This record gives sequence, C-alpha cells and structure tokens, in this order.
Amino acid sequence: MHGYVANGPVLRLRRYGQEMEFTRSFELLNEAEKLLPGGVNSPVRAFRAVEGTPPFIVRAEGCRLTDADGNEFIDYVGSWGPMLFGHARTEVVRAVQEAAADGLSFGAPTAREVALARRITRMIPSVEMVRLVNSGTEATMSAIRLARGFTGRAKVVKFEGCYHGHVDALLARAGSGAATFGTPDSAGVPPGTVADTVCLPYNDAGAFRKVCDSLGEDLACVIVEPVAGNMGCVPPDAGFLETLREMTEDVGALLIFDEVMTGFRLAPGGAQELFGIRPDLTALGKVLGGGLPLAAYGGRADIMRQVAPEGPVYQAGTLSGNPLATAAGLAQLELCTPEAYEYLEELSTRLATGLQEAAEYTGISARVQRVGSMLTLFFTDRPVRNFQDALSCDRRAFARFHRLMLERCIYLPPSQFEAWFVSTAHDRAAVDQTVEAAAASLRDLAVEAG
Ligand SMILES: *Cc1c(COP(=O)(O)O)cnc(C)c1O
Repeated sequence: MHGYVANGPVLRLRRYGQEMEFTRSFELLNEAEKLLPGGVNSPVRAFRAVEGTPPFIVRAEGCRLTDADGNEFIDYVGSWGPMLFGHARTEVVRAVQEAAADGLSFGAPTAREVALARRITRMIPSVEMVRLVNSGTEATMSAIRLARGFTGRAKVVKFEGCYHGHVDALLARAGSGAATFGTPDSAGVPPGTVADTVCLPYNDAGAFRKVCDSLGEDLACVIVEPVAGNMGCVPPDAGFLETLREMTEDVGALLIFDEVMTGFRLAPGGAQELFGIRPDLTALGKVLGGGLPLAAYGGRADIMRQVAPEGPVYQAGTLSGNPLATAAGLAQLELCTPEAYEYLEELSTRLATGLQEAAEYTGISARVQRVGSMLTLFFTDRPVRNFQDALSCDRRAFARFHRLMLERCIYLPPSQFEAWFVSTAHDRAAVDQTVEAAAASLRDLAVEAG
C-alpha cells in the first residue's frame, strides 16, 4: 500500500484557504487494489509515475471534474483526449440518450454507420473507405494486419516513444541511435512477435532512409504518430513526415498515420491536413467517439477493399459500429467547426505562453512544446525531439509539480510523457487560473530546490 507522498492517507489540500480531503478516494483505492490490478483498468490512471494516488471521479462537466470527496479540478486530461468539446457536452449526451432509447446494439448494419463513414471520409480525404472498431488499439492492430496483407510483406517500422495501443507487435522500442530490431517492451510478448518490428528514433529521417535501403521489398509499412503525444508533445521536424511519404512510395510500402490522438483534434482533417501529407492508411479514435468506445481505420479504397468480407484480411467486432458510439461520433463531428479550432488555438497559445513565462520568471528549466490544443511542459532546457530527449527530462521535478498543481485544483496528466489537452469548454478564466497555479507551483519548486 502506498499513501500520499507527504501526508499519509488523508491528503489535505489548500484551496483558497480551504482544506481538501481525499478520504473517500483513498478508501475506494484501498478497495480497488484488492480487486483490480493497481486499482485501475488502465495503468497510467494509478498515478505511479508521479508517486501519488488518484482521486476517484464521480462527475464531469465542461472543463471541470468532481471527485468522490467533492473536490473540483480544472481538467487537462480530457479522458486522455476524447473530450475536445468538454465533458457532458449537451449535443453529444442528447444524441446518446436518443439512440439508447432505440436499443443498445443490434449486430446488424445501421444508417448511422453510413452517415458517420461519409462524415469521416469528407473530413479526411485520404480516408476513402473506413472500418469502425472499438478502440485505438484495435484500429492500429488492424491497420498493420491490413498493410501486411495488402503488400504481402512482414516488416514494420515504428518510432521510439510512439504509442500505438497495446498491440503485441508494437510493444517494442529497442535502443537509441542506429536501427535496431525490436525487443519486447512488455512481459508476455515473445521475441518472435516483435522480430519483424524495427524501431527507429522519432524525427530521424536519415535512419528511415537507411532502413528502407536495407529492407527494401520486405518493408510492409511504417506507422507513426504524425505529432507524437505519447512521449509528451513532440512535433515532427520539417521534412520528417515528407521523407516517410517519399521513401515508402519508393519501396512500395504503406504509410500509416496513427491519428488516434491527433485526428479531429489538430484540425478537422487531423495532422495530415495540418502538414499536408496524404498517408495510405489512418487510425482514428479518441475525439471520434466523444467519450464512447469508438475508433476506426481507413484509407485508400484499393487497400480497404482487402478487408473481409470484400477481401482476405480478416477483422471483425461484435459491438463495432455500435448505435450509441456512432450517435456520439456523429454529434461530436458536427462540432468540428472552423471557429472551434480558432478558439482552441487562441486559448492553447495563451496557456502555453503563460506557462513558459512562469517557468522563465522562476528560473526553472522547463519548456512548453505545443501543437494546437495538445501541449507538454517538459522539465528540461533543451528541445525534446525524440524519446531519448524526453527521457532526459527531470521526472522528479515533474512529479512534484504535478502534486503541487493538484493541490491547486489543476488536474494534469500524471506523467512527464503525456500531452495536456485543452477543450472548447475551457475559457480564459480557467486558463489564467491554471497559469497562476503553475507560477506558484514553479516558485515552490524553485524554493524547494534552494
Ligand atoms: C490512445 C492511443 C492509442 C490507443 O487507443 P486505445 O483506445 O487506448 O486503445 C493508439 N495510438 C495513439 C496515438 C494513442 O494516443
């Protein structure tokens, strides 16, 4: 059993002179840890990377979360990405309620699936045909299978620090520097499973060229987060994505953009719209489902026609295209207006600038990296361009900062290697309160560091 770092089981937090209690969350965690590994159903939720314990959430609205003890937080996790338009957004909730009244699942085709597919293909032109699934993991796993089936080749390139869900073959990152054949990142993944996975440093176009030269006709595909979000926010260097596009075309391999995080968040057409690159296949999720389990993969029609029942690449799902999930997805995509992205850009700039100024004022080595409404405050004085750079950040400082922010009612992702998400439900007041809390927390850090 691990208690709160400083004060034991009951954490007393300052909030405008009040005290916050975490008694109920702590009781729930004790119970949960007997029944669920780590007390959670997804590892990062356990707050281990910041040596803390998580508040249990009972309710969320707009940009705010309420926990089991009645504490209220400004949320920058956004359910890890889906909540682009804030929690409990009226249009989405209503759409789900209406759909639910007509039955929860049929396992048969529905009009909403057609409408959603049309919507997705209009917003993301490279996606000519699409298959709906239930999670981002399923989307990337299926896209890889499809790429291998379509090309008749086995090798897959991925980049260190990119997360593509818990797909066996993608749970590998290998060493830095030169191209290295994959070694498993998780117990339970036999070396043979990742033997065809090649891991390269993110933003290393030269390494990718070399691998294409040596693998040539064995390379089925490369999968990449066009803006990395799972090592903290790391934008692609100029020319990196272009090189992937060019070289895959040269060797007849497929380019897969994993836009599970960036899709519909960075632009209506995702990162591929922002950077003007047309991948062969795209994985989508998170924002697409607005908080319900919904994801998708899609791309060139000639490739997608290889998916069963039209083609020989098998992939299926009992709940795929679920009526509630597709209702949420349709309502969510209706909200992707130009004004929404303008607002997100303005608000995210304000937050990023405020955080950077606070760091500079307090003399703490920290830098903000941002693309659109995803950003990370890295505790380092150098640009973070790849996973090795991210690993060199001061994780202890981040852990302390995270806790100080929680004490000031700001709910941040509990790891240095995550992106913070701004939603359209945030406003200037919330952002300014966040910047003030950050300035105070960084000042505390500076004082503690002496
Ligand atoms: C979250 C994420 C996934 C996995 O999605 P799940 O729905 O958690 O399975 C895959 N790729 C990227 C880029 C992600 O951010």
